[in-house]
Amino acid sequence: MPNIRSRALANPINRTNVTPSLPDYPMKAAVCTVVTAAALFGTLCSPGCYQVPVTGRSAVSMVSDKQVVQQSMEAFAELKKRYPLSRNREYNERVQRVGDRLSKVVFWDVPDAEWEFVVFEVPQQINAFAMAGGKVGVFTGLFKIIQNDDQLASVLAHEIAHVAARHVNERLSQDMAIQGGGLIVGGIMAGSGTGSITSGAVLDAYGLTTGITAVGFDRKKEKEADHIGLIYLARAGYNPEEAIKVLEKLEEESAGKPLPPAWLSTHPSSPERILQLMDLMPKALEVYRQSGRKPTPVLIK
Ligand SMILES: [Zn+2]
Repeated sequence: MPNIRSRALANPINRTNVTPSLPDYPMKAAVCTVVTAAALFGTLCSPGCYQVPVTGRSAVSMVSDKQVVQQSMEAFAELKKRYPLSRNREYNERVQRVGDRLSKVVFWDVPDAEWEFVVFEVPQQINAFAMAGGKVGVFTGLFKIIQNDDQLASVLAHEIAHVAARHVNERLSQDMAIQGGGLIVGGIMAGSGTGSITSGAVLDAYGLTTGITAVGFDRKKEKEADHIGLIYLARAGYNPEEAIKVLEKLEEESAGKPLPPAWLSTHPSSPERILQLMDLMPKALEVYRQSGRKPTPVLIK
């Protein structure tokens, strides 16, 4: 939708002082907000408070990072057994190339990740995911809609943003708070390693339980991942405008089909998401230009 995009570009938002290689947190008091777990265990939220990269939102994790990473690794190993690995040289090279560039610009936000990018031979799945600890999977179906590295990077940057924001920690905290607070306070939060987080629970939290079609994160977290991912994309020197093209392509792909592509099932599309990307585009383009990768002029049509 070129007209809407042009309007967005013609109406730049005053966001300056962008530092591409470092997190740009807004100055904000570290106050615990949202999250069911926080409401239930308000007095105990301080130890688990953290600030989400890029957006600066204050969030709460009641689960141990170490356990989440460990279970994510196990879940990823299960997925590698469940799906055949792609032997397509081009796909593999592209994913490694793009993944390598993105992982460098998110170093400060995910410092202890051991990045691994794997292409799964599942042509019917237009999907990708990233897990805590830096485990990233791309299904070959995604290449049906991806036309260049920038577009592939936009999908991977969104998925990596979920990891940087520790959305799965929040999701697990919420689930476990609902299921039984005593377990969290007595076990996971204290970091005693009781094993209460299983790789099944982790897969469920990522939306990867049943054939990559379950809903993983809520709309707010999807929009937050869009926001963070857009900035990561730009920092890595990929054209952020391609992120909108990917969403448009996914819309096209789903038109007239009884079941939407898997990525849309776990990432409900809406004009709201595209509008948010357009709103953030002036800032993202500034970060993109500062990345020094491909300094291109901004055309206002
Ligand atoms: Zn997402």
